[in-house]
Amino acid sequence: MADYDVDLFVIGAGSGGVRAARIAAGYGARVAIAEEYRIGGTCVVRGCVPKKLYVYASRYADEFVDAAGFGWTVPEPTFSWERLVAAKEVEITRLSGIYETNLRKAGVAIHKQRAVVTGDHAVRLADGTDVTAGVILIAAGGGATRGDFPGAELTISSSEAFDLPEFPKRIVVNGGGYIAIEFAGIFAGLGADVTLIHRGDKVLRGFDEDVRDEVAEGLKKRGVTLLLGDEIAEVAAVEGARRVTTKAGVTLDVDQVMLAVGRAPLTADLGLDATSVMRDHRGAIMVDASSRTNVPSIYAVGDVTDRLNLTPIAIREGHAFADTVFGQKPTAVDYTNVATAVFATPEVGVVGLTEAQARATFGAVDVYKARFRPMKATLSGRDDKVLMKIVVDAATDRVVGVHVVGEAAAEMIQLAAVAVKMGATKADFDDTVALHPSAAEELVTLRTKWTPS
Ligand code: NDP
Repeated sequence: MADYDVDLFVIGAGSGGVRAARIAAGYGARVAIAEEYRIGGTCVVRGCVPKKLYVYASRYADEFVDAAGFGWTVPEPTFSWERLVAAKEVEITRLSGIYETNLRKAGVAIHKQRAVVTGDHAVRLADGTDVTAGVILIAAGGGATRGDFPGAELTISSSEAFDLPEFPKRIVVNGGGYIAIEFAGIFAGLGADVTLIHRGDKVLRGFDEDVRDEVAEGLKKRGVTLLLGDEIAEVAAVEGARRVTTKAGVTLDVDQVMLAVGRAPLTADLGLDATSVMRDHRGAIMVDASSRTNVPSIYAVGDVTDRLNLTPIAIREGHAFADTVFGQKPTAVDYTNVATAVFATPEVGVVGLTEAQARATFGAVDVYKARFRPMKATLSGRDDKVLMKIVVDAATDRVVGVHVVGEAAAEMIQLAAVAVKMGATKADFDDTVALHPSAAEELVTLRTKWTPS
């Protein structure tokens, strides 16, 4: 690839792009990367990382109250949004700096500006510099979908929510997916009056029905008002507030309206029309198992391809791309049994199939489930429950789905995913001695098949 300025040009320094750039450079490729915002991408800068920090912040509210049951006297706690935002900013800046340092150490040339594609082997930077590349990797990520109702411009997305100059004491969150549920929990925990408006009759479509019910219950217990089966008709600016009118005729005056109605691949204005790269109806770049587009020199990884939009998947796709193209090690990403969590309060951790998916796939399915009061709730007196559910293919005894709702569900499911990935049977779970006292022990002590009452 000596005729080109670089062997690899990566557009987008998020999780997928940074991993691909570093690994390719490690194989000796001459690599450049362009980022128009901050190095680290959505996950580090305005996604998973700040979100989890805010989830931690929000959960102290319960801890202060629960402490009384364990003998503590806690003075009236006060919360400073400004201090949280500032602390988050310090951490995000630190992490972004580490990403940048690692890229530099790997020998990757960093361009802190937008880049667009101008041909099958060419990109142009915002300052007008043209760069030719043997391979172009598009890792531009995704962006929040905007609303199309009157006043949509008065709403914010999760990106703005992290840095609001003032804490919204009253907020409407619109949507019923990962982001809506996580932010409803964050704002409620931090003391806001939260109304969640969702067009469906249940939140978290695609998750197991029991999980969906448990999360809705948990949100209500934490004071979130659920307006289900309804949609925003209009948002208007009224004195000192946003007035939300729903299609069902509900009117609410709030400080902020946050939309979390999905994310779409950021492929508009990327210059792809200068190539014949194919995109689907949502604008996602279409790629094969090795993340290659129909143009042999152009690849794409991460949310821009709209496959499984999770950070660890983007990282795997970026790594597999570099191994395949620059390491002579053809590698494909395995998308099965990927554990996922919704950092709601209560937290959700799942791996594998829902009960309905398992029934559709295998026909005969055994279900084991428990819904119990966690030990901590005995002294705290909190009306809390943990839900655990194991879905088993009856013919083979293989565990095909594990679903947990409750404290530390994400931590539990990461390890349960190892067993499920290895093909563990229910008998293997049963053979595992319980660790007592823990909530997770329930996963290896469930013995009675659940039958619908
Ligand atoms: P999701 O796709 O998870 O949810 C979108 C929600 O918006 C759904 O409830 C959907 O309803 C609703 N919706 C879609 N279109 C409209 C509309 N026109 N009007 C009203 N409601 C609408 O998207 P998110 O934005 O929450 O998250 C994007 C992705 O980011 C996730 O799918 C996930 O892959 C990733 N993510 C992962 C996280 C994690 O791993 N913890 C955290 C955050 C994001 P319906 O169900 O009826 O379609």
